[in-house]
Amino acid sequence: MVKYDTVLIRYGELTTKGKNRKDFITRLFKNVKYALRAYDDLVYTKTYDRIYVKLTDQDPQEIAEKLKKVFGISSFSFTEKVSNNIETLKERCLQIAQDTDKKTFKMMTKRHDKSYPMHSDEVNRMIAGEILEHTDLKVDVHQPELMIRIEIHAESAYITSDKIPGAGGYPAGINGKVLLMLSGGIDSPVAAYQLMKRGLKVEAVHFASPPYTSDNAKKKVLALAGMVSEYQGHMKVHIINFTDLQLQIYKTAGDPYAITIMRRMMFREAEQIALKNDCLALATGESVGQVASQTLASMNVINQVTVMPVLRPLVCYDKVEIIDLARKIGTYETSILPFEDCCTIFDPKNPVTHPTLRKCEYYEAKFDYASFIQKAVDEEETAVVEPAENEEDFL
Ligand code: ATP
Ligand code: MG
Repeated sequence: MVKYDTVLIRYGELTTKGKNRKDFITRLFKNVKYALRAYDDLVYTKTYDRIYVKLTDQDPQEIAEKLKKVFGISSFSFTEKVSNNIETLKERCLQIAQDTDKKTFKMMTKRHDKSYPMHSDEVNRMIAGEILEHTDLKVDVHQPELMIRIEIHAESAYITSDKIPGAGGYPAGINGKVLLMLSGGIDSPVAAYQLMKRGLKVEAVHFASPPYTSDNAKKKVLALAGMVSEYQGHMKVHIINFTDLQLQIYKTAGDPYAITIMRRMMFREAEQIALKNDCLALATGESVGQVASQTLASMNVINQVTVMPVLRPLVCYDKVEIIDLARKIGTYETSILPFEDCCTIFDPKNPVTHPTLRKCEYYEAKFDYASFIQKAVDEEETAVVEPAENEEDFL
């Protein structure tokens, strides 16, 4: 049997050079170590275009599941590290061929050490000949069922027959910090995942309206934060008490404008939290047209309270596409738990779909909202959420 003893990790999207490349690799290396932090006897090596993780007796399936969540990895393989002597390569590749129940194969050799005495093609041909002679496998260069890859280095070689797709994107945290408005719904946790995939570090702000929203609603948001933080490491969640402001809005603005104004206030508060915490952009789980407050006209009027960029990774997604992603990242079942959030309680009957800035300003001039904002922001609570080892940790 082949003993796969080393994981070979390939990087993705590496069009960058120089310092950026170095930062990419350093961050990815850190993130890989973080993802595998449960194992203390792994040995890591990083090179210009690979990370190698030497295993002892860990479960490869478990390791694979963890690595699939690390952004910046384009693919990875379980390999056997052997001497680069051609006789050894022949013998170990033949072993792979003998272990398989596949019918066709192809050899693919890459020399990292160009001083190796044989060319890649020669190695391929020699080993393929050996396999053809001793097994019933046939060569298929176009669609082989089994691809045997060899990487030849100066003192060793890595042999593998799998290539597992990685999560792609950029290593989480490499592209700066963004403040995501995180509700307990389906969309915003998916937005968190998309932002992290672009290499952003996500910090979250949640607006709670106790006692109209329950402690369970807050726990649910922290649970969701815990689930997505698996992709970046711990996540800060700022919890803002929105009750006073919300009640005031319902007193002063008419029913149709309440949601629009509420969302303008959320953006104002979020901007302050972002500025205090070095976040360079805000983010939401909005998608054009999904609800009244997400028509383009609403977004336009709401967005005018801030000059910060507002990232909306789901802006052009259909709800079904968002749900598919939520299922894939494992947040869906928690998102649909029936705990009320602040928007569902103060749900107006006839929200305006084409609000005007003039009317928003008219309603907002009726009370001193700045002092409400100041108080809410000053009294925010910050929770630091660690990746959930299992969901029950939170719920
Ligand atoms: P989600 O599924 O993310 O809750 P939604 O379809 O319910 O989204 P809205 O309630 O209109 O849509 O919210 C749009 C976006 O506003 C959310 O994706 C989130 O980014 C933000 N948001 C809404 N409510 C809150 C809240 N209570 N705290 C923080 N952010 C919120
Ligand atoms: Mg919501």
